[in-house]
Amino acid sequence: MINFNVPTHNDKTIEYIIDSFATGHVSGDGKYTKLCHNWLREKMHVDTALLVHSGTAALELAAICANLEPGDEVIMPSFTFCSTANAFVLAGAKPVFVDIRPDTLNIDEKLIEGAITDKTRAIVPVHYAGVACEMDTIMEIAQRHNLLVIEDAAQAFASSYKGKALGTIGDMGCFSFHETKNIMSGEGGLFVTNNTEFAERAEIIREKGTNRSKFFRGQVDKYTWVDKGSSYLPSDIIGAYLYSMLEVADKVQAKRISIWKKYYDAFTPFANAGKIRLPIIPDDCTNNAHMFYILFNDLETRTKFISFMREKEIMTPFHYIPLHSAPAGQKFGRVATTMDVTNLVSDTLVRLPLYFDLTDYDQERVINTACEFIKGL
Ligand SMILES: *Cc1c(COP(=O)(O)O)cnc(C)c1O
Repeated sequence: MINFNVPTHNDKTIEYIIDSFATGHVSGDGKYTKLCHNWLREKMHVDTALLVHSGTAALELAAICANLEPGDEVIMPSFTFCSTANAFVLAGAKPVFVDIRPDTLNIDEKLIEGAITDKTRAIVPVHYAGVACEMDTIMEIAQRHNLLVIEDAAQAFASSYKGKALGTIGDMGCFSFHETKNIMSGEGGLFVTNNTEFAERAEIIREKGTNRSKFFRGQVDKYTWVDKGSSYLPSDIIGAYLYSMLEVADKVQAKRISIWKKYYDAFTPFANAGKIRLPIIPDDCTNNAHMFYILFNDLETRTKFISFMREKEIMTPFHYIPLHSAPAGQKFGRVATTMDVTNLVSDTLVRLPLYFDLTDYDQERVINTACEFIKGL
């Protein structure tokens, strides 16, 4: 069977995990967590990088930093993973759903301004499939209306917009190192910011609302409960796994991009013939090859494709059930625009297997099987 994702690790992973025990410190902020923090700050050109236990946790941390009050509104796409909205619901705010662009499947920046009310506090652009939202426009709207921008960059590791690392353009950025993402530590996440106020607060919120980090740096002589918070820091064992993957990030990215291009080239003739639609990467954006997806023309064709592939033991999942149509989305959120593109994409998108250890042989089998189906359309 060819699954759509298979987690990976390397020899260093085990070595570093064993070494983390040898340091006598396997809880949070140990040797490997610090190595990760330094690596990430340097490569992403960001002032503060804090490992957390998931992308969901990074979003929750950002939502607490945003100081939202009951009734406050947060603008986001409906075509995203539920954690994007959940984090803000937990903070007492209301997700306000906006439709996506038909090309990148990112939030349609032209619709954002119409969704702003006097309750709006933040915009949450989700960089779908690691391809950037139109950040210049989004930042300009946010500045004009005095709104925060919190980037859901869960899929956007090692991707950029006009040369700037995604996740570092807005006020705060949130990444995931879940096993389905490009760089993984099983579960894991990252919060980044260039804002010193948010950095100081995030450090406290992440450590149960205490100033423990300042204490360890010798900046205060005892540590105590100073703000609201939770426990968002991962064990150093997770840091060890993550560091072993960060060290080979270039290799992982090169492999993923080569797999992505092979799919793209194989399906281009069918896209030109109008049978399917392939991903579109605008000029100002990079492609981190987080995902390879195909859009069919209708739901019926996609349903047939998925069962055709499953019969040949190839897993090709779809996502997302739009949040505005999900029970919790209806309960906690509000729809601000028509949802035509969101609904169509949700019905017609399918993901192909894409992971570091995918062999040429298996990828050829995926391509040949998919082509066999698409040719018949
Ligand atoms: C994966 C993902 C998340 C959640 O990350 P976890 O690490 O699984 O909690 C949030 N938003 C988006 C867009 C994602 O793809």
